[in-house]
Amino acid sequence: MRTLVLNAGYEPLTVVSFRRALVLVLAGKATVVAQGGTPVVGGSITLPRPSVILLARYVRAPHGRTAPVSRRGVLRRDGHRCAYCSGHATTVDHVLPRSRGGRDTWENLVACCLRCNNLKGNRTPEEKGWVLRIRPHTPWGPAWAVRGADVRDPAWEAYLGAA
Ligand SMILES: [Zn+2]
Repeated sequence: MRTLVLNAGYEPLTVVSFRRALVLVLAGKATVVAQGGTPVVGGSITLPRPSVILLARYVRAPHGRTAPVSRRGVLRRDGHRCAYCSGHATTVDHVLPRSRGGRDTWENLVACCLRCNNLKGNRTPEEKGWVLRIRPHTPWGPAWAVRGADVRDPAWEAYLGAA
């Protein structure tokens, strides 16, 4: 169970464990704005299990944050659709193959179905005569900038926005 932390201006800031969130709440540094699951019992007190908390004071968010590249993230960005045939994608392909210097970047990774991935092998789309149906890009927006937000809690949706 994890907790989404909102900055004092309600913009999503980060994701922490609910224990860390409770520490912030108990210290008066945050308030619970959404809760879920069974309450947390500690000693003689019972506390709501926070799914979203709001910081009491505004903290400066680091600028220029980009989402760390991950296989799951690439599949999510591309909607689980193969960049070459639009079929259901379960794998991730390096557009420029890794063996030829292709890197693990948002710009070089696309969702790919198993069949296309096997057919493509060590070649570039140009060499195969294939056309990329999407232009791979670094995803942006609060839902991506917040580290850990790729594992979503339904209670977070209202704060993270559509992504
Ligand atoms: Zn495909």
